[in-house]
Amino acid sequence: MTRTTPPRNSSNHGPAGSNAGSPVRIARWCGLGLLMVAAGCTFGPPGTSQAAAQDRARNVILFVGDGVDDSQLTIGRNYLLGADGAFSFDDFPHRAAAKVLTVEEESPDKPQYVGDSASGGTALSAGVVTSRGRIATTAGSDEDVVTILELAEAAGKRTGIVTTASLTDATPASFVAHISRRFCEGPMDMDGARGGTMPGCPEDKKSNGGPGSIAEQIADADVEVLLGGGKRHFDQADEGGANLIDKMKERGYAVVENAVQLSSLAEDTEKVLGLFGSSTLPVEWSGENQLRARPVKLSSDGQPEPVEPFSCVENPAFGERPTLEAMTRQALALLTAGDGGEGFFLMVESASIDKQAHAANPCGQIGETQALDDSVKAVLEFAMGRDDTLIVVASDHGHSPQIVPYPSMFAGGPVPQPQYPPGKLAVLETLEGSLMGISYGSNKLGIEEHIGTQIPVFASGPGAERVRGLMRQSDVFDVMREAMGLPRERK
Ligand SMILES: [Zn+2]
Repeated sequence: MTRTTPPRNSSNHGPAGSNAGSPVRIARWCGLGLLMVAAGCTFGPPGTSQAAAQDRARNVILFVGDGVDDSQLTIGRNYLLGADGAFSFDDFPHRAAAKVLTVEEESPDKPQYVGDSASGGTALSAGVVTSRGRIATTAGSDEDVVTILELAEAAGKRTGIVTTASLTDATPASFVAHISRRFCEGPMDMDGARGGTMPGCPEDKKSNGGPGSIAEQIADADVEVLLGGGKRHFDQADEGGANLIDKMKERGYAVVENAVQLSSLAEDTEKVLGLFGSSTLPVEWSGENQLRARPVKLSSDGQPEPVEPFSCVENPAFGERPTLEAMTRQALALLTAGDGGEGFFLMVESASIDKQAHAANPCGQIGETQALDDSVKAVLEFAMGRDDTLIVVASDHGHSPQIVPYPSMFAGGPVPQPQYPPGKLAVLETLEGSLMGISYGSNKLGIEEHIGTQIPVFASGPGAERVRGLMRQSDVFDVMREAMGLPRERK
């Protein structure tokens, strides 16, 4: 079934916010998280030292579009809204470009130029530059670093995590857990019982004095709203033999597993664990006939064969699971129930923009980008008329797909033959009636790679003015923290 045409956004946008080129300090040793703190390496965005005195945010909602860079946004925007369209967050009053800083595990003074969801998640959640694969811990020294969710909780705020990935996946884990390896997701991962060797996990077992797997750490935390996938990581026994789901029920969690159960939760539900799939949740869209990008074939005369254009359709495998928007709306309802307490911190991740980019599936990506936009709109509805809610839309790292001309710009000469990218190519028939070529060029045949590029940050609400120019991804942590008036360390 083909999606109905999304409403066009007719707003006419001028150039995006300026990239003012403020002075950039190079601090290679800032890869050591605790050193960052000790050495005053907790940078705010340029020229913002007085920002803490501004109005405070009672609530902060952070959206993470996983793998979202300007190319991914442009692909989604072109298809969903037209080349001159705009996402809801494109209209936010403040925006910046953010550097994705990552360091080598063995030599934390050396940068790596491509991050992952663990290092990017830790930058956002804890304001610390670390190595790939690390969850809220420092590169080389394996020290835990406090997260914005933990600071909010310590200040008496309610907290929530919403994701289309497993709740134990790198981005959500970075806000709740501390572990050296992102793949130590459940108790059975800790000693390789699920098949993999999972280096680094055994050291973090509780019986070895560690904090346990990510799922165990989530079970031990007191996050009010946990909605996502990854049931298989919770439906396991910990070292004491207790099933984690049962353990969380005993600790007062209502456990729900489908959209009806989620929407039927009592208003006074204090804590909820929503596990809507075994692992990553199915995506909302797929390509017509399951088409995705594929290597360009050459005919016998060496000419590239035409690529069959296709459109995006609803993914029949999505099933009755709640959408990201539905999860976001329910999270807001639960986090604000009653008198709303001291406010809340909520992280919402559209995870499969990344995962579908790895799979060279543009329609999967585009549908999840729409899910991100729909969820931001739901939060904007909540925030309408309020002046106490900071909304930030950010990303963890860039990804491989990019828009290329189709047909080739050089078709017809003067270059002798049309040029096509060496990787995989998809050609989408857009709602505007044009063709959009999308190249996945980071790997010829297998899984696509992340790429090293700056990522966009959008912000609205109290403290949002600190998002401007060229900042560091890790500055987003301080923007959120200072907006809520929280200390740098947990008391
Ligand atoms: Zn990825």
